[in-house]
Amino acid sequence: MTTVPSKDHLLSRIADARDDLVALTRDLIRIPTINPPGDGYAPCSELIGARLAQRGFTVEYLRAEGGLGDSDRYPRTNVIGRIEGGAPGRCIHFNSHIDVVAPGSGWTVDPFAAEMRGDRIYGRGACDMKGGLAASIVAVEALLSLWPDFPGAIEISGTVDEETGGYAGVAFLAERGYFSRPRVDYVIIPEPLHKDCVCLGHRGVWWAEVEVAGRIAHGSMPFLGTSAIRGMGAFLDKIERDLYPALNQRRTTMPVIPEDARFSTLNLNSIHGGLDETEAGFPAALVADSCRLVLDRRYLIEESEEEVRREIVGLLEAVRAERPDFRYELRELWSVPPVMTDADSPLVRALDRGIEQVLGRPARHVASPGTYDQKHVQRVGQLRDCVAYGPGILDLAHQPDEYVGIDDMIAAAQVMAAAMIDLLDGTGDGG
Ligand SMILES: [Zn+2]
Repeated sequence: MTTVPSKDHLLSRIADARDDLVALTRDLIRIPTINPPGDGYAPCSELIGARLAQRGFTVEYLRAEGGLGDSDRYPRTNVIGRIEGGAPGRCIHFNSHIDVVAPGSGWTVDPFAAEMRGDRIYGRGACDMKGGLAASIVAVEALLSLWPDFPGAIEISGTVDEETGGYAGVAFLAERGYFSRPRVDYVIIPEPLHKDCVCLGHRGVWWAEVEVAGRIAHGSMPFLGTSAIRGMGAFLDKIERDLYPALNQRRTTMPVIPEDARFSTLNLNSIHGGLDETEAGFPAALVADSCRLVLDRRYLIEESEEEVRREIVGLLEAVRAERPDFRYELRELWSVPPVMTDADSPLVRALDRGIEQVLGRPARHVASPGTYDQKHVQRVGQLRDCVAYGPGILDLAHQPDEYVGIDDMIAAAQVMAAAMIDLLDGTGDGG
């Protein structure tokens, strides 16, 4: 058995891999894995798989055939590599999504050229989250070079569709046991949540559509019909007067960043009523017989999905009590429960120690306002020891001129490596 490498030795090995880390990040950005529709997944997975295979990983390509969004034109190809050490032990899994959102407008650089300016690499996906993926690969490779017969196993996966829910990605793999014990003990998702923050979880999501039904009539005699738009207006009035003030009072104990997101929130996603907006020409004189509203409700660990639903139904029923002709239907579109990993988890403690050692300041524990793939690891995989930790600034995600800092990536890779020693060695002494 080789001995446990010193952390200083490991950290300098990662600093020395700077050029390699930059090259890998740029190679990943140059594959435009835009989702939707889910372009370039196979070549991106192959780039990752080929590199891991060279380092001795056993590599599997898992296409979510027939899954949501999968087609021969846009195959949902995931990649997962695993390497066993020299003795039994824990398994640490690094999971990154390989998809990026469309670049949109406002860029001053080519979003897929991976241009460099000073310490920054620019491109769609640079921070969310190809920089994090590259950092985790380089961290693992440095560890393997110094400690080839470490106890345990390490896995690295590149998965699809996080930006559209992750159903053909992490959820697909989790349903097949890839994110459960005994195969895996700890999962780190290198999402861009700042190099000094450990992200313990995220708020819940409840999306629903409310459709108010009216009765059509001639627009010159609206009293002969029932306007669905006026009915919806009454519902919106209840939301403004009753719901928003209540939500603004509900503060969570979850350490959500930014702090304004530490409350329950509701976004009115879209509203359509009356004539179809695609209809060309002059509007016909009609009373609206239908109006639809999409609600995007984000809720807290202190709330339940049932309470969230009951609250909306309560407002709809209150409108009906006041307006006898008010008819509605509520359709639930999507929901995700909030998740929070225990701050006492060995995984969190190991990352905390790594941050202190590498950055010389205490780690901050945070939670994300929106969801990410941790939901599938916890809900489907039943694995509690899962967090997000990675380089990059969350605010840059999905923005024009997205970039990742090279020093940030190196620091995050060093934190990951230091945490791996703690978790695999099992002494937990931080030495
Ligand atoms: Zn992301």
